[in-house]
Amino acid sequence: MNLGLQGRVALVTGADSGIGWNTARLLLAEGATVVLSDRRQDALDDAASRLTGNVRAFAADVTSGEDLRRLRTRVHNAVGEIDILVQSAGITGAQGLFHEIDEAGWRSTVEVDLMGPVLLTQTFLADLRHGGWGRIVYVASEDAVQPYDNELPYCAAKAGVLSMAKGLSRSYADEGLLVNCVSPAFIRTPMTDAMMRTRSERLQVSFDEAVDSFLDEERPYMELGRRGEPEEVANVIVFLCSDRASFVNGANYRVDSGSVATI
Ligand code: NAD
Repeated sequence: MNLGLQGRVALVTGADSGIGWNTARLLLAEGATVVLSDRRQDALDDAASRLTGNVRAFAADVTSGEDLRRLRTRVHNAVGEIDILVQSAGITGAQGLFHEIDEAGWRSTVEVDLMGPVLLTQTFLADLRHGGWGRIVYVASEDAVQPYDNELPYCAAKAGVLSMAKGLSRSYADEGLLVNCVSPAFIRTPMTDAMMRTRSERLQVSFDEAVDSFLDEERPYMELGRRGEPEEVANVIVFLCSDRASFVNGANYRVDSGSVATI
């Protein structure tokens, strides 16, 4: 299927690894020009060197308005205005039961996982409204609608992203700007690698045993019984970025093998 992405310009955050990097790879394969962004320029340069196509890489911290304004200038100088924004930057953030997480834990998590998407959208909204055609895809999480009590700052921030996306999808659709979310569960990326390393140390088991017990005990509705691959999430993101998703707006697509227990 031709996704109609030839010549479109996309900015992908959280793009030096995982879901962001795989989304960039698939967008490039569809003929889009892609700007990768993440925190560290050296990691981004390495990530870009493993891609083919019209790709640029500029570092920015999504919690810094100053960084994002500099990013916008660099993007405009390099490739012009963007048509597509994929916001994949995120952190697991503060872990523990509610009484174990202090103010700093809440603030630092919400700063990245909610304020990051807010600031990024503020910075690039004018671009996305200009062309009469635009796409925003936020990577939220299963946790946004099915909160786990050991990571409530993350859950609350991701729920905020869904709410913002839904509201935003109402504002500019008549200008051609469509806004959607993708909500994964337990994908094989550095984020969940770190979670599983911590789990294997805590339970004194191997990494693979930590994954298996996590699936059995913590994610019983992931019916496929395995971690997802980042490309399996990127496939859905790229569809939502495309011309083929021209009547999809204000939606949250779950890519979670059934993890969220309701339809
Ligand atoms: P990842 O760790 O590979 O990617 C996240 C990226 O975000 C990293 O490259 C990191 O450097 C970047 N990042 C973090 N803070 C940043 C900041 N302040 N500014 C700029 N970049 C920053 O993990 P991933 O799994 O690919 O995560 C991508 C998105 O998917 C995240 O938003 C995450 O919450 C979400 N998600 C992942 C899973 C999963 O199972 N892996 C499940 C649900 C949701």
